Amino acid sequence: MKPAPFSYLRPTTLAEALAAYADNADAKVLAGGQSLVPLLSMRLAAPDMLIDINRIAELDFVRADENGVTFGALARHAVLEKDETARRAQPLLSKALRLVAHPTIRNQGTTLGSIVHADAAAEMPMVLVLLGGTVTAESARGSRTISAGDLYVGPLESSLESGEIATQAWVPALAADTGTAIDEVSRRHGDYALCGVAALVGVGQDGAVRSARAGYLSVTETPATVDLSEAFGDGTLSPANLAAAADIAMAAIDPETDIHATADYRRHLAGVLTRRVIAAAHGDALARTKGVAA
Ligand SMILES: Cc1cc2nc3c(=O)[nH]c(=O)nc-3n(C[C@H](O)[C@H](O)[C@H](O)COP(=O)(O)OP(=O)(O)OC[C@H]3O[C@@H](n4cnc5c(N)ncnc54)[C@H](O)[C@@H]3O)c2cc1C
Repeated sequence: MKPAPFSYLRPTTLAEALAAYADNADAKVLAGGQSLVPLLSMRLAAPDMLIDINRIAELDFVRADENGVTFGALARHAVLEKDETARRAQPLLSKALRLVAHPTIRNQGTTLGSIVHADAAAEMPMVLVLLGGTVTAESARGSRTISAGDLYVGPLESSLESGEIATQAWVPALAADTGTAIDEVSRRHGDYALCGVAALVGVGQDGAVRSARAGYLSVTETPATVDLSEAFGDGTLSPANLAAAADIAMAAIDPETDIHATADYRRHLAGVLTRRVIAAAHGDALARTKGVAA
């Protein structure tokens, strides 16, 4: 199938893009096109106009400092994945980006495009929520900052309003006493995962677990996180504590059966991956506190 007819605008400034969007509520923003172009071709989306933001140079940046990482709407997955200052400030970004699709898609797709596309099967919306990041949205009406917790309102639905362009996202830097890990299971390398889990584990000076939080993909309607700290009351990674954390996670998620996997299988994966990533994030936290993390 071919897309329905649309007009096409390729502005070179954000002001021009926002003015065009303000005049046409039926327009859609085109970033990397890796999700939008298939939707257009299948006629699941039929906007009047495409506003192609790829020539707006001011949106093409990655900046990192001791507070966190900020990246613009044109930062491609591959650029952010390989940015050394971003990796040092918040290592979970590059760990997760390596799992997004294939290199060709990561070369073209933008991380912010993925975040606002709001797919609960995608890695980066979940990572934004787990890290407690924000998205800045601009429109002809002004600018606002949306916290990750307020960004996702339903399946494939963000709280971006008509006329708003997401211009940048921010995630906090990783604390020195905290480790990260992410793992997922997919049918083929590069496919959307049947289930994926990322974890943040904080440790005390004695190496005991002080906090544990995990984010889940493909097992909830919107990107979700679960606080697992209560499973580690004695601070150890004992099999019983890891099993308790897996139980908390499996009770909190709400997977669906589809042609790829049953709900029960996805729930089982969530339990297995929870144990695995909590242990890996704890190991990472210990290495970071000793200054030897990768
Ligand atoms: C074969 C294949 C496999 C894939 N596998 C994975 C995977 O495993 N994991 C994963 O996470 N993703 C996967 N993707 C999706 C990929 O990561 C896309 O890059 C991403 O979902 C969207 O980014 P984009 O820049 O291409 O956005 P686009 O396709 O250009 O846009 C997507 C949507 O977001 C809107 N939008 C984009 N940018 C903005 C903005 N700045 N402001 C407002 N609205 C905006 C668009 O209007 C559109 O509605 C896959 C894609 C393909 C084709």
